[in-house]
Amino acid sequence: MTTPSIATFISNTSCLDDYDPNSMPVAKARHFIKQFLSPVVESEVIELRESLGRVLATDILSPANVPNYDNSAMDGYAFNADDINVGKTTHLKVIGTAFAGKSFAGKIAQGECVRIMTGGMMPAGANTVIMQEKVLVDDKLISFTEAPKRAMNVRYTGEDLQLGQTVLAAGHLMRPADLGLIASLGIGEVTAYRKLKVAFFSTGDELASIGQTLKTGQVYDSNRYTLYGMLSRIGVEMIDMGALADDPELLEKTLLDASKLADVVITSGGVSVGEADYMKLLLAKHGQVMFWKIAMKPGRPLAYGRIGNAHYFGLPGNPVAVMVTFYQFVREALLVLMGQPKPPALPLFKVECTQPIRKLTGRTEFQRGLLFTDTDGIWKVKPTGAQGSAILSSMSLANCFIVLDESIGNIDTGAMVQVQMLDGII
Ligand code: AMP
Ligand code: MG
Repeated sequence: MTTPSIATFISNTSCLDDYDPNSMPVAKARHFIKQFLSPVVESEVIELRESLGRVLATDILSPANVPNYDNSAMDGYAFNADDINVGKTTHLKVIGTAFAGKSFAGKIAQGECVRIMTGGMMPAGANTVIMQEKVLVDDKLISFTEAPKRAMNVRYTGEDLQLGQTVLAAGHLMRPADLGLIASLGIGEVTAYRKLKVAFFSTGDELASIGQTLKTGQVYDSNRYTLYGMLSRIGVEMIDMGALADDPELLEKTLLDASKLADVVITSGGVSVGEADYMKLLLAKHGQVMFWKIAMKPGRPLAYGRIGNAHYFGLPGNPVAVMVTFYQFVREALLVLMGQPKPPALPLFKVECTQPIRKLTGRTEFQRGLLFTDTDGIWKVKPTGAQGSAILSSMSLANCFIVLDESIGNIDTGAMVQVQMLDGII
């Protein structure tokens, strides 16, 4: 697949009558970014456990049937369903025991059964298992009147995975269940795309780093810490390039170094209107970068493009805007660049909002929300408090975004709103 050139696009935007960098809808910005993404191609063979959070570079085919033999799903008795005395009591003679890992070697004849444990191999001649709680035992005889249906409580050969079938396809992001799934095939190594390298730095004359004394007019650089957290969850290789003053020479050097070291460069600050425009000048000089004002709140300014071979994301400086733009634009792009062709969309659920929200139409708002259970145990949502784009405490309190799209205006108490979870189970 050839990736279109951003430079060509930038010089031709006038042909697109609906392209307005000063009022870019969220969905359109996502779409634009998507067409320029060129995933990593290099892969490596890694130990199965190392593959958690990585993307498979080749299909994994099943070298065997799983399960490999018919076995019991219950502790009970294995028998032939033809022996059921329909409508009456069935009596069977117990001729042996089959344990998981220690099968019964014989064959059952008419009127016979075998005591069997969960996972035990089905003895020859048996096709059905009755659970032990449903039988009366009298020494070597069992009896039951409530018979199971034929083939009940048996796990059949290949019912999970069949020999030769594609178990996981290239492009799959490995999750905990996948580690077990691949282990169940006896496979200990997989081929995954190499880790994506992401360099990031903060910009701003007002930034102090942890360990420095805060002078009047300074703020501690928090963006590198939230970025570190968000990037850690995605599982990329990180290159933290520090907090830089708005010094053109230093910014230029760091930007160029970052673009040589990493597949992706992320900066925060310096792309908004009214900023000392060093970043913009540098980006225009060394790369092909689009500057957008996204029709969203928070997170209005956003830059995307290329510097050398690296993809570039210029996030706003405000701490909450950094997180929102990361989750709404960068996260998915990174997953694509890591080799996942179509990352699954993050689910949006509708729940009742227990507080009114003031909102203008024409832009998408990502309010910080708290999903909670009311006294009847029903899940509902409320905003976590002040929604200014610098107020990180309300982001820290949140467990979801309340996503209010462009067409939505003020929200009344009790209205249904869309939410997007921040925390996942796996
Ligand atoms: P900017 O986008 O550079 O105009 O910054 C917008 C606001 O975000 C300003 O109030 C900055 O002080 C603040 N800000 C920028 N970068 C950071 C950072 N790394 N950590 C905390 N606040 C920041
Ligand atoms: Mg700044």
